[in-house]
Amino acid sequence: MSTRALYGNYKVRPPFPPLPATAGGLQDSDLENLDPGVWGAAAIRTCSVCDQHIQGVNLRQVWISLWTSGADVLPLLVNACSAACIDALPVPADGYVQTPHTGGPSVSQPPAGRQPRRRRAASEEALGSEK
Ligand SMILES: [Zn+2]
Repeated sequence: MSTRALYGNYKVRPPFPPLPATAGGLQDSDLENLDPGVWGAAAIRTCSVCDQHIQGVNLRQVWISLWTSGADVLPLLVNACSAACIDALPVPADGYVQTPHTGGPSVSQPPAGRQPRRRRAASEEALGSEK
């Protein structure tokens, strides 16, 4: 899989699309009929963090760059139901924006071109030694 075009990828650091300002602006019914080009999905029903039903007025969207199960850091669009759920997100991958953010030109990313060093979790070390 080519990761070069992914938002925030270390090689070229494409900017993250700005997320819509959502605070208090949506009704529950709005969440069932969204423009995927703006919201990333045609409908948003549950919180990406706690899996609870999201009420329109409580929706918060943020980007976060995380290691996936493969060898890539992927930009993930998080639909959260509360500030507490955003606080509960894991620390982003080394070499990427170190907090969840809402995209757009004001987000300052690390310089392009240097591959971040991977920080291995203890659990991964254990898995690796079994090979
Ligand atoms: Zn939640």
